[in-house]
Amino acid sequence: SREVRLERRPQGAPVREDFSIAQVAVPAPAAGEVQVRNLWMTMDPAMRGRMSDARSYVPPLELSRAMEGPAVGEVVASGDPAFAPGDLVWSRLGWREAFTAPADRVQKRARTLPPQAYLGFAGMTGLTAYVGLLHVAALKPGDVVFVSAASGGVGSVVCQIAKLKGHRVIGAAGGPRKSAFLTEVLKLDAAIDYKAEPSLTKALARAAPEGIDVYFDNVGGDHLQAALSIANPRARFALCGMISQYNATEPSAAPRNLTQAVTKELRLEGFIALSHLHHEAQFLADVTAWHAAGQMVQAETVYDGIDRALDAFDGLFNGEGLGKMLVRLGDA
Ligand code: NDP
Repeated sequence: SREVRLERRPQGAPVREDFSIAQVAVPAPAAGEVQVRNLWMTMDPAMRGRMSDARSYVPPLELSRAMEGPAVGEVVASGDPAFAPGDLVWSRLGWREAFTAPADRVQKRARTLPPQAYLGFAGMTGLTAYVGLLHVAALKPGDVVFVSAASGGVGSVVCQIAKLKGHRVIGAAGGPRKSAFLTEVLKLDAAIDYKAEPSLTKALARAAPEGIDVYFDNVGGDHLQAALSIANPRARFALCGMISQYNATEPSAAPRNLTQAVTKELRLEGFIALSHLHHEAQFLADVTAWHAAGQMVQAETVYDGIDRALDAFDGLFNGEGLGKMLVRLGDA
């Protein structure tokens, strides 16, 4: 079985030499262990932060060890009575085709949804969107919602929840393909192709003549600056991520208009989905019902094979990825 390892801490955008792909033996499970064949793994921008040795809410990745990250797979052999071959399980044990681990490191998932949904709208990605929009931004009737990186994993779920609750939603994404996806598939009221706009603030003013009441920030920088300018008094900003800065080697110049937060009495609140796990059961019930009703689809970009993991990771930053970025490792 193969695994992707971090060998060196990237400077700026990661390059191939920062990683290796190693062949490892996967032992039969001892008592209390399970052996799992991974089916899907997810690429998350937060992994870029963990490749650096700066302290964050999760510790840095260790060098010459498998990249950590969520995956779903199938139990192939079990030394634990709670698991049987064929069980679908979620883990965060990383970028590896297969592994043997203590049974308490994996969690069972129902076959009611497609396996990769547990890495997308029904996984941490979806929970991030759900708690950020409904609890942190505290979405209320009539709010106009602006979402950045709107066609991405988290963004596409935020957009779908806001639309099914009847809101006017404006999304920003890079390029005509993503803009078309936002208006035609997710049925947003307006899409902004930020790569084609000389001024994001002017583009947002045109798309939201009535201003915005909620901003779901995945990008930071110029997107946050535009949202501060166009926000209505007492708007709420859920600060989810700032991907425009993850590969930066210099501090960001924008936003330069943070005073607007004072004069408009804005509420800007950063959040970490892991701090909101108490909403997980309700979240899973809601997204499962929305999916069954056809109101929640999984937008995804799929790369085949562990050899493509780094291409998939790059796709988070270079505009290639639309929806949840996934690597398929095997067939269910
Ligand atoms: P996405 O699927 O959204 O992938 C990243 C997207 O970001 C790309 O599709 C790309 O879209 C966009 N992007 C990349 N670089 C830039 C840039 N310089 N300016 C503008 N847009 C850019 O990833 P996720 O859904 O996994 O994550 C989205 C955000 O949510 C990230 O900021 C992530 O860190 C954050 N997050 C936060 C969590 C929390 O607990 N707070 C948990 C999970 C994720 P485009 O082509 O449109 O540029």
